[in-house]
Amino acid sequence: MSDAPRPRPALRCPICRRPAAEATRPFCSERCAQADLGRWLSESYAIPASAPEETED
Ligand SMILES: [Zn+2]
Repeated sequence: MSDAPRPRPALRCPICRRPAAEATRPFCSERCAQADLGRWLSESYAIPASAPEETED
């Protein structure tokens, strides 16, 4: 029998680099999960639907 405990890859919170929690992985906490989600959304919304063109005519 090979019931040796497999070492889990140490996930780190992409926000604060702390060890990820089981409940909120890959984040360390709900706060960091929300922070990442907010950042992701803001990035996706950062792209303007109509790029402002330089109209210096
Ligand atoms: Zn974190």
